[in-house]
Amino acid sequence: MRHVVVISTGGTIASRWQGDGYAAEAAGREVLEAGAVPEGVEVRVVDLFTVNSSRLTTGHQLRLLHAVHDVLADPEVDGVVVTHGTDTLEESAFFVDLFHGDRRPVVFTGAQQPLDAADGDAAGNLYDALLTAASGRDIGAVIVFAGQVFAARGTVKRHTLDARAFGDPDGLPLGRVEFGRVSWGRRQPRREPLPLPERDVASPRVDIVMHHSDADAVLFDAAVAAGARGIVLVGTGAGNANPEIAEAVHRAVAAGVQVAVSTRVAAGAVAPLYTGGGAVDLAAAGALLTGTLKPGQARIAVLAALLAGRDAPAGEDREAGARLRRILDTTPKAASASELYLVDGVGH
Ligand code: ASP
Repeated sequence: MRHVVVISTGGTIASRWQGDGYAAEAAGREVLEAGAVPEGVEVRVVDLFTVNSSRLTTGHQLRLLHAVHDVLADPEVDGVVVTHGTDTLEESAFFVDLFHGDRRPVVFTGAQQPLDAADGDAAGNLYDALLTAASGRDIGAVIVFAGQVFAARGTVKRHTLDARAFGDPDGLPLGRVEFGRVSWGRRQPRREPLPLPERDVASPRVDIVMHHSDADAVLFDAAVAAGARGIVLVGTGAGNANPEIAEAVHRAVAAGVQVAVSTRVAAGAVAPLYTGGGAVDLAAAGALLTGTLKPGQARIAVLAALLAGRDAPAGEDREAGARLRRILDTTPKAASASELYLVDGVGH
């Protein structure tokens, strides 16, 4: 018998019609009972919280992180499944992955259709997630959805409504789940986990500011003024902005804010190619380029680097930049053409 713990957090997989829209309301046991449990797998349910995932806070994600570690403190447990809303699933999964040093898998899943949909995807996704969690494979945190297994890192929600909601625009799935078994493709090298933050650590503010034509530095400066300890600048193209924003980045970095540059483009890495406010100048101003991490996960990278500093006051955590650099280091994976480009490309 394999022992899997399901941690239930809400999302569409736990949602029902409320008269004017859907909202998460079902407990984990009800979600489980809507489908079947694979033979040879025994399940225990932990009801952590029940929210639509667009309402999640860092506080929720810290509770989830500690719940996973508490569950894995039991050597009898073979794996963990987290049921989660799809809106921010890629954020929580990457967050858990960055602190995960255990060999047992943590499998995130959800659904695009609510629990009470007769032709929904909740039961199948949960079944596949249970099979993956029971596999005993050393894969870190992964996302199982529509018959595919993706590493948490790099995976994004890529369709608002389609059942094949997730994918890695710069990589391949780790495996597939079909006909009641998991088959594996490439292996993902594991990384050193970050030190676990305290349960009651204060959540640092980390904002996302998107660049666009006609943008000025007002919103970026406003994030600094609001007390942001980290900012993800979502650049155009390969991570570009303009000279005014490059100056704002310089001021923010000088004030101790961690600035990371991602892109609003759906696939590919950011790269230091252009000056005149481009990624060359943003990097020279002290921003770190986030490789192929898209904005939501780039923000989680910054957040995790700050949280791993165990509550050091703003500007006094001298190691935060070094931790963020380690998180962003692409060399352990480098599985796709665009990442190889990043590793071998201009300025690297
Ligand atoms: N609103 C939902 C959420 O909690 C969407 C979903 O789960 O698919 O993210």
